[in-house]
Amino acid sequence: MDTKLEILEFPDKRLRKISLPVETFNDELRQLAEDMLLTMYQSMGIGLAAPQVNHQIRLIVIDISENRNEPMIFINPEIEKSNGKVESSEGCLSVPDIKTEVNRFESIDIKARTLEGEEVYMKADGLLSICIQHEIDHLDGKLFIDYVSEIKLERLRKKIMKEKKALNYEVQKKSERLI
Ligand code: ZN
Repeated sequence: MDTKLEILEFPDKRLRKISLPVETFNDELRQLAEDMLLTMYQSMGIGLAAPQVNHQIRLIVIDISENRNEPMIFINPEIEKSNGKVESSEGCLSVPDIKTEVNRFESIDIKARTLEGEEVYMKADGLLSICIQHEIDHLDGKLFIDYVSEIKLERLRKKIMKEKKALNYEVQKKSERLI
């Protein structure tokens, strides 16, 4: 049985730890990946990193497909090459309500391991590239709001408070996708 896990939220200090590489590819790891996928789907997210559910290991899960049926699992992911720059609008399951622009690489070449421990190489661009960069940041204890100035964050918080008062807030929130 897969279990929905609790997602840590900013400013929880555990989100700031550096996650360790996975060395043992066993059933426990596979179960954690399954639980993370369930947690991501039920939270309307398109990506989730293990430290967000209080496991400080280098494991991320992603599904950017429209039908929510193309799960991807990356273990010990590393960016080997990056190209171009792109501004992405991001939110995060660990930083509720805040959404802001972040500068990312447009495309990346990554190296990672599968649940079986096999090494894989992949090129990613578009939303997948952005999502992988966002999740790798989690593995390094970084959050997308770290790229934004304090002043801008304060402005965003105020805007959110206003929006929360608006009647359609809940509807809006449900249609958002978070990583
Ligand atoms: Zn996130």
